[in-house]
Amino acid sequence: MPVYKAEAIVLRQQALGEADRIVTLFTREYGKLRAAAKGIRRPASRLAGRLEPFTHARLLLARGRTLDVIAQAEIVEAFAGVRADLIRSAYAAYVAELVDRGLADRDPHQEVFALTLDVLETLGRSREDDADIAVLHFALRLAGCLGYQPETAMCVECGRRLPRVRGAAEAWAFSPARGGALCPACRREDAEAVPVPPGLLATFDHLIRTPGPESSRLRMTPVQRGDLARLVQLHLEHRWEARLRAPLVIKRLREPLESPGTGDLTATAK
Ligand SMILES: [Zn+2]
Repeated sequence: MPVYKAEAIVLRQQALGEADRIVTLFTREYGKLRAAAKGIRRPASRLAGRLEPFTHARLLLARGRTLDVIAQAEIVEAFAGVRADLIRSAYAAYVAELVDRGLADRDPHQEVFALTLDVLETLGRSREDDADIAVLHFALRLAGCLGYQPETAMCVECGRRLPRVRGAAEAWAFSPARGGALCPACRREDAEAVPVPPGLLATFDHLIRTPGPESSRLRMTPVQRGDLARLVQLHLEHRWEARLRAPLVIKRLREPLESPGTGDLTATAK
């Protein structure tokens, strides 16, 4: 059987038969692929513990008829800090879900690979309340890499720019279907568009244009972060024609702690 090496991030696992697992990998060299980890659920397996979700590993794979088979795995970074914490691992699972949804099979994407390692690294050392901004940033970078960055500096229909006055009370909206902002005159073009204050759209735009999550944190309240996360989620769900599962898990985990978002966006956005 021909073998090949790959550097991979484990996105998820599922059980296969008695002792095996199917592992969804995001490899640097070949993009996303699914491979079998045979015997991994047996305690004596040399793969056991080396292919946990979010692990960064160097692998040796053997080509198989249907699925390739993971022959060896060596951990580069286990991201133990991510897995040790329920909320961090929920955010990491969101990252994995975004990558899994966003990338086609066997379509390599170096930039997304680097971004994914970066965000896992950040999650591993972030305080809990910084996890949301790191993942929000990641989701926007991912959308940009895949060619569907939302347009938030101007109306996507008529090109009118956001009002410069901070706190302007104009009735702007965000349209997941149009991939960006709609001005008060154009928002009727999409009945599903979510009402968003121009100030929040400006913050959204700032976030898109900011290179790292650190510098964005200071400008946003937790409520704004929650609202923006919701808009980005709607934008991606529309693109992928799929509901994302991880945000719901995160919401349930965080609910006892705080209530991110005003709830206004959620109510109008179904
Ligand atoms: Zn317009």
